[in-house]
Amino acid sequence: MSKFHSTVSRRDFMKGLGLTGAGLGAAGLVAPGFHDIDELISMPGYKDTERKWWVEEIENPKMFEFNEEYSRYDQRVPTIYGYTPAEFGQLRDDAKANTIENCKNAVNGYSRRDLALKFGGRTASQVVNDVLNTPTWIKGNSMNMVMVQPEELGVGKWSGTPEENTRTLKNAARFYGVDLVTVTELDERFFYAHTGKAKIEFRDVEEYSEEPGLTIIPKKFRYAVSLAIRWATPITKVRVSPLGDASGRDSIDVLYTAVKPRLSEFLRYIGYSAIPNTPALDVPLSIAGGMAELTRTNRLVSPQFGPSFYMTTLLTDFPMAPDKPIDIGLKEFCTSCMKCADACPSGALSFEKEPYWETKGEWNNKGHKAWFENSKNCMGFWLETNTLCGICFRECPFSKYDVANVHELIKITASKTSLFNGFFRNMDDFMGYGGQWDAEEVWAREWSPRAWYAK
Ligand code: SF4
Ligand code: SF4
Repeated sequence: MSKFHSTVSRRDFMKGLGLTGAGLGAAGLVAPGFHDIDELISMPGYKDTERKWWVEEIENPKMFEFNEEYSRYDQRVPTIYGYTPAEFGQLRDDAKANTIENCKNAVNGYSRRDLALKFGGRTASQVVNDVLNTPTWIKGNSMNMVMVQPEELGVGKWSGTPEENTRTLKNAARFYGVDLVTVTELDERFFYAHTGKAKIEFRDVEEYSEEPGLTIIPKKFRYAVSLAIRWATPITKVRVSPLGDASGRDSIDVLYTAVKPRLSEFLRYIGYSAIPNTPALDVPLSIAGGMAELTRTNRLVSPQFGPSFYMTTLLTDFPMAPDKPIDIGLKEFCTSCMKCADACPSGALSFEKEPYWETKGEWNNKGHKAWFENSKNCMGFWLETNTLCGICFRECPFSKYDVANVHELIKITASKTSLFNGFFRNMDDFMGYGGQWDAEEVWAREWSPRAWYAK
């Protein structure tokens, strides 16, 4: 059944919530910082770049508890998400055969057109990836652009105050295509110790370098920039299928081919350097910069797009004022929600009420608290379906259109009080926001580049 028209009026919502204006007033009393209902309803969408008033900046992210066991993660584990290489190879062969079979059987989201959108969406980043760390991106002239190299200008570096530098970098990143960008001061713990191909070392040297078995990151690259692009939400709702995957694939391509090279060149031109492709642990770096919070899926949810975005990291020596972590009430919401764990077809997600220290396998890094997931189960389901699944993202109450006031109200309320969290999860179920959309219905609509994402 189509879910395109699952909307509700403000009056119906308030009735369903069991709250009149006075009820919300009571909520305000138990939740400091709760604004009045008209202000809540009239909140602008994600188009403003400032943090919204209900996103609280904090010193330490709630899901950032570490103990003495924590060290930089070494990717050289003998298995691939718990599978031996031979088992993994067999699962990949099966996945290919299943995809062909599903296409022949016209399974929802598996048509030749659906597959084309998915596989077309990763072309450029695969090609560019190997050369992304070329330190100076544009060297020469083209037919209609006479390149003036910065050293030919006869002026010094461009630089402002740390705050101006942050704003400058964020403006450039948005201009080149990102939806979310945050900055944090680099924490070496949040880099792989070894990627499987190379040991990662931070040294007091000028130049980034790669040689067989060793990657050296100069210590002067003190700033980690988290860059994110949201997914095309209606396509995300066709998860689990190749068409559903397409929404995430194109975000990666745009980040790697359009944003990172151009932002690196921008930084080079103003007098600084970038390492666009880094062996970074993107998730903790983005949490430290306040892009999102860690959730029950052991993945991210942002105030603007819920879990529906892809993010990556770029390092730079451009000195900036870092952003702070945020609190939008997700730890408390996830404690009672569990909608993702209920929906997960592989049993990969935890039903434990509180996050814990015990890891589920060698794919997890020890020494920090989380709702650790069973990645072997998750990866097994990915290969079984030859998709990136994402049912947990599809079902999350935060993965709704940001411009819908009702959802904005839910997010605001959850950020200020856990009083209604259980109710919101039930209401999300009741209003039929879960489930898979129909691929043919999605294709039958006229897509426009940005409206498609926002509405
Ligand atoms: S991606 Fe799918 S299998 Fe993996 S945790 Fe999410 S719902 Fe479960
Ligand atoms: S579905 Fe619920 S429990 Fe899972 S990440 Fe979203 S809010 Fe948290």
